[in-house]
Formats: sequence, C-alpha cells, structure tokens
Amino acid sequence: MKIIILSNGSGNYTTKRLKEEARARGHEVRVISYNKCYMTVEKSMPIVYYKGEPLTGYDAIIPRIAQSYTRYGSSVVRQFEMQNVYTTASSIAINRSRDKLRTYQLLAKADVGIPKTVLARETANFEDVISLVGKTPLIIKVARGTHGNGVVLAETPKAAKAVMQAFFVEGVNFFVQEFIKEASGTDIRALVVGSKVVASVKRQSLDDDFRSNTHQGGVGTIIKLTPDEEKTAIKAARTMGLSICGVDMMRSDRGPLVLEVNSSASLKTPELITGRNVAAKVIEYVELNAKRRNKKDKIGA
Ligand code: ADP
Repeated sequence: MKIIILSNGSGNYTTKRLKEEARARGHEVRVISYNKCYMTVEKSMPIVYYKGEPLTGYDAIIPRIAQSYTRYGSSVVRQFEMQNVYTTASSIAINRSRDKLRTYQLLAKADVGIPKTVLARETANFEDVISLVGKTPLIIKVARGTHGNGVVLAETPKAAKAVMQAFFVEGVNFFVQEFIKEASGTDIRALVVGSKVVASVKRQSLDDDFRSNTHQGGVGTIIKLTPDEEKTAIKAARTMGLSICGVDMMRSDRGPLVLEVNSSASLKTPELITGRNVAAKVIEYVELNAKRRNKKDKIGA
C-alpha cells in the first residue's frame, strides 16, 4: 500500500514508529507535513499538493494533527476524504474530539460515564452553577485546553467565582465540573484500535498536582483495565467515530468517567511502558480497513 502519515513532526516518536512499522510490513510510506500542503478546491478536482507535487494515488492517510493546527490539518484530511482515500480518523471526528463540550454532550447521550459538567457563560448565577455541580472544590476547564493547561481546581466558592469571571472577561469558553477526589491525581489512558484496547497506562502526577497528564510531569505505569473500563473506552471511541484513539478516564466511586478522547494519541508512553508493538497494530488495522474505504460518519454532530 501507499501510505501518507500527515505529521508536522517527522522526528516525533509516534510518527517515527508508524513509519518504521509500515515499512517493516512492506508498505511505501511518506511523512508529509500538513502545514506545508496546499489544496485546489474546484469542481471534481480535490487535489492536495506538497512542494509542487500533487499527492495522488495513495491508499491511506494516518493523520497526526496537532491541537493548535486542528483547522488547517482537518481541511487537508477532508481533501483526501474527497478523493476517497482511506483515513484512520475522519476530519469531522478530529474536529468533534477537539471540542471538550461537544465530546461530553455526545458521550452523555450515549450513556458513557463523564464527570458531572455544567456549561456556563456568565457568572451572575455562579452560586447556582456551583450547586448544580455539587460543591467546592470543583474544576473549571477551558473548552479547548490541552495537556492540562486550562484546567483549574477551585477550592472555595470565592475562588471559583474569580476564575469564572477571569475566563468570562477574556471571552474564553469554559465549563464547570465536579472534582473527582478519589481519582487523586491519577488517570488512565486506554489506546483503542478498532474494537480493542491494545495498551493501557495509568498516569500519576509526580507532586501534589491534581493533573496526572504526563505533559505536566506525571509518570506512566502499566495497568490492567477492569471489564467495565475496557467497555467504556471502546464505547467512547465508537461514540466519537474514532477507530484509533486514546481514551482518558478517571476511576471514580461510580465507575470509569471519561475525560477526553484523543484522535492523535501518542504511542510513546503506551509502547515504552507496556512493551507492546502498538504501531504494528495500527498499520494492521489500516491494511484491513483501507480496502473497505471510509464509511460515512453517521454521528452527525
Ligand atoms: P487536558 O485535555 O487539558 O489534558 P483534562 O480534562 O484531561 O485536560 O484534565 C487534565 C488532568 O486533570 C486529568 O488528566 C486529570 O488528572 C485531572 N482532572 C481533570 N478533570 C478532573 C476532574 N473533574 N476531577 C479530578 N481531576 C480531574
């Protein structure tokens, strides 16, 4: 097969591993920086160009779109979809998973556990907002934050109001969420490929930070998921229309609660911690599915 990995970081661990495994399995593979792609949008000619070369005749793309380039990156993916090239993540699924609120709305509708979440725009009714969530301490989150930036723990109603006011003044979309104390700075990243969890790691913050993301200095360890956690991860992936993704969950007294579904999950910690060849699983999945082409995204949100 002829495969393109759409990635702006050719030296990135995940990009390198996917390329290596695709080669090892006999495919022709290229890493293309989607930021350097340009496209013609005209009647029945949806072509993507890269350094003067039209990128045609490819069987599959593996998008690795960074959060900060979601808009341009997903348009490049869409252009390949229009050429009927198989993609491991559709442009619409990438966009929907980048919006936390949209993610929570879809997961809640599909009956997937999430922390109790209230969307607020103004602070006039902040006492009501707090009582809807429960009580302080509570979490205030920026709708498009990543790597734990934009996640605030407010210990008191006073602090919660001040943070909400600051976000409101800056015009930042945010929501308020119950604080899952029992998760205590720990979360679980389950890597889903197709209808299976292929690796799972527990991430723990190093200090007393409540955020466990490895980008915030947290460390990863191997973890065995409960059947409920495994089912939740697979259901969350399916709900978001992502066949290859990382599902972040917290362990709570009422079972697993999903925090995020990541369309460009890193393979680094899961591979290094579990010793599993996750990149090979991804390429195997592409081999099996590229021939069937993209099914229409039926979620519609
Ligand atoms: P980001 O997408 O910016 O990484 P997350 O929603 O994943 O934001 O939150 C970052 C980290 O903060 C999580 O990994 C988790 O450890 C912690 N966290 C997030 N939401 C809650 C919550 N409601 N209760 C307790 N801890 C939370």
